[in-house]
Amino acid sequence: MKEGTETLASLGEFRLIRDFFAPLQTGEAPGVVLGIGDDGAVLTVPRTQQMVTTVDSLVEGIHFDAASDPFLLGQKALLVNLSDIAAMGGKPCWYFLSLALPPETRIAWIAEFVRGLREAGERHGVTVVGGNTTGSRGGIGIHVTLCGLVSQDRALTRSGSIPGDRILVSGTIGDAALALAVRQGRLTLPEGPDLAYLTDRLDRPEPRLALGLGFSDAAAVHALIDVSDGLVADLGHLCAAAGVGATIQAENIPFSPVARRLLERDPGLFAAMVTGGEDYELLCTAPAGALDLLAALARDAGVTLTEIGVMTEATEIEVTRAGKTLVFERGGWSHF
Ligand code: ADP
Ligand code: MG
Repeated sequence: MKEGTETLASLGEFRLIRDFFAPLQTGEAPGVVLGIGDDGAVLTVPRTQQMVTTVDSLVEGIHFDAASDPFLLGQKALLVNLSDIAAMGGKPCWYFLSLALPPETRIAWIAEFVRGLREAGERHGVTVVGGNTTGSRGGIGIHVTLCGLVSQDRALTRSGSIPGDRILVSGTIGDAALALAVRQGRLTLPEGPDLAYLTDRLDRPEPRLALGLGFSDAAAVHALIDVSDGLVADLGHLCAAAGVGATIQAENIPFSPVARRLLERDPGLFAAMVTGGEDYELLCTAPAGALDLLAALARDAGVTLTEIGVMTEATEIEVTRAGKTLVFERGGWSHF
């Protein structure tokens, strides 16, 4: 098969599924009684567990454009969903792939997209078990539904924070926002290892699955969310879900060495870094007495976990920095 310029129009739906999507199904995940090829998948959920499910869409013109690398898109379509399963304390298993494709989509594009899905799927032990394929008169639409397993009644939710809870975040914040700023021409950074690091954080986020599972197994946190909308907005989601407020210290927010260097050069980048989104880190709250346990879980998971503040009885989020207080409402940048 020539994959260079050939398009879907010459391939057809049946061969597309047979040659590209069906081979994505692997024996990686347990519990698949019936996968691709029938009217529905049959999956076994062990008696002591529950299924946790999430879906995310990547739409051409909104999340990516014609020039975007299809390999990275395939990876990211899974990675953003894996992060949601991590944020529920689940173990990811099975996914459904629903695609809307214009007839002029190149087969080479599909092949690269599928390669990205396969790479991310194999790395995290998940397999496709079904999907849907339809034409599109607009751009490409990619919709991945991911199912995972969580121990009975151990799913970790956004609600449950109480005033006095410590707020902790994994990894580092703001790298993806900086990469996006460079890509959109709002920030200049020469080609080199720093830009490569930031770009990788945007294109290939690492879902914090081991940490989420550890939190669930140990019932160690009161509330958990993944940072996809931005640190402040997602902290706002935790606050709203529990009817509480929060105070965080800007000095404590974990920034990567690259981000810290850029921030020193231009302190004005701070707002974009804490509101920018796409960090895919885990943000949790827990009682002070659980901090040692949390540190041990983070060590076991091989990620850093940094305490950045405390939940309060207020109704808003305060970010204090060098004696000044910035007040955010609902994730928006509001006033000093
Ligand atoms: P139906 O008409 O019963 O919905 P389809 O003909 O749409 O079935 O799909 C045939 C089989 O191929 C189904 O098992 C479906 O889950 C699978 N499938 C279709 N599209 C995709 C896709 N993009 N990725 C993975 N599996 C797919
Ligand atoms: Mg059918």
